[in-house]
Amino acid sequence: MSYVDEVIDRVVRENPSEPEFHQAVKEVLDSLRPVVDANEQAFRRDALLERLVQPERQIKFRVPWIDDKGQVHVNTGYRVQFNSAIGPYKGGLRLHPSVNLGIIKFLGFEQIFKNSLTGLPIGGGKGGADFDPKGKSDREVMAFCQSFMSELCKYIGADTDIPAGDIGTGAREIGYMFGQYKKLRGLFEGVLTGKGLSYGGSLARTEATGYGLLYIVEEMLKCHGQTLAGKTIAVSGAGNVAIYAIEKAHQLGAKVVTCSDSTGWIYDPQGIDVAALKEIKEVKRQRLTEYRQYRPDAVYHEGRGVWSVQCDIALPCATQNELDLADAKTLVAGGVTAVAEGANMPTTAEATEYLLQSGVYFLPGKAANAGGVATSALEMSQNSERLQWTFQQVDAKLKGIMANLYHNIEDAAKKYGFADNFVVGANIAGFEKVVDAMNAQGIV
Ligand code: NDP
Repeated sequence: MSYVDEVIDRVVRENPSEPEFHQAVKEVLDSLRPVVDANEQAFRRDALLERLVQPERQIKFRVPWIDDKGQVHVNTGYRVQFNSAIGPYKGGLRLHPSVNLGIIKFLGFEQIFKNSLTGLPIGGGKGGADFDPKGKSDREVMAFCQSFMSELCKYIGADTDIPAGDIGTGAREIGYMFGQYKKLRGLFEGVLTGKGLSYGGSLARTEATGYGLLYIVEEMLKCHGQTLAGKTIAVSGAGNVAIYAIEKAHQLGAKVVTCSDSTGWIYDPQGIDVAALKEIKEVKRQRLTEYRQYRPDAVYHEGRGVWSVQCDIALPCATQNELDLADAKTLVAGGVTAVAEGANMPTTAEATEYLLQSGVYFLPGKAANAGGVATSALEMSQNSERLQWTFQQVDAKLKGIMANLYHNIEDAAKKYGFADNFVVGANIAGFEKVVDAMNAQGIV
């Protein structure tokens, strides 16, 4: 059995009930085969892959909090500090009822390579809790965040582990967590990113993941003699990533005709009204059913269905495994030419394979949505300097980072004989830097 297969088997055996983690490890290790096979003896001797798939540390803790009626609730919090070879742990905090250790580990593992690809000195980590901020009052969210941070603050710091937002953790939650960290540790430091602008946040961080997604798609199209102008795009999700992906797509001359949330989806043939979407989701925190109040000609459907719409480009921006093989077949039949993942692992392994075999340009999340964490690292730089850069400065750096990232993954894919396979390119390019740093630092 090859070294890669042995390690995959071991991960599945030793981490039962963590299917998302298995999926992420398989996807990454499978595409690393050319590099691992070429170095098998040394990697085996150093147990390199075993060290890569085992988090340096994983923390699981109780999060008790009191609701507005005086009832006590207990959630489970997690922080997985996966790999610090190239810098302090960096990765978001997900607050969603589906959160469990396997999901946090899959996200943390992916984060190692994504962070490496940004070219910035940040290691991989991820955290969160099975708490659902939806339907909770501000006071209840504050009570949860304070309790969560009371424990987490023991393990994080501006030079050790710097969490950020993710699903369910937006500016409000980051604010409450930052306040509690400062109170308990007595430190005003850049321990979290995604902070408000009045207390150390970076301009353009809110927009960064969605904008970065469009910047890398634009660069990829440019390198293949195409542009975004005039393209029809299907987007899923209606959260932070989706909203700013839609905004930037429109600025670059494309038309986005769909968006979705966990209950339904919108088809708006005139192009999604971003101002309306922001008001519904960012200000009023409502369901997408409200969209038709703003655009009576748009159609609202219950359930899933975004990928049934004919489009040139598909941008899944909601959550993991939301685009399956049947969706991929529908998209290809409809003439899709590019799929880029705004969310983390939104495309199932079978769907990814089908898209690649069908000649669709496929940009995996660890490359395509890296603009968020890259800008978080820029927020860390600003905090260290005690300066704030302008929106234009941050946006220009983001654009440069995404263009470089594209060329790095394109070059890595070509170097190993997989031209235009950006899954292989991203995994190899991200891996090479981490391995180099791990080897330099010895067995630790
Ligand atoms: P948000 O919470 O702002 O938005 C998530 C969107 O996805 C919402 O529209 C939500 O619908 C929908 N959604 C969530 N879970 C499900 C589900 N199980 N089924 C269907 N729809 C669902 O999160 P973000 O936009 O920040 O994150 C989206 C994705 O992008 C995640 O995979 C995240 O890890 C990834 N990502 C985010 C980055 C960032 O900077 N924000 C950076 C890199 C990756 P509803 O409103 O109904 O819950």
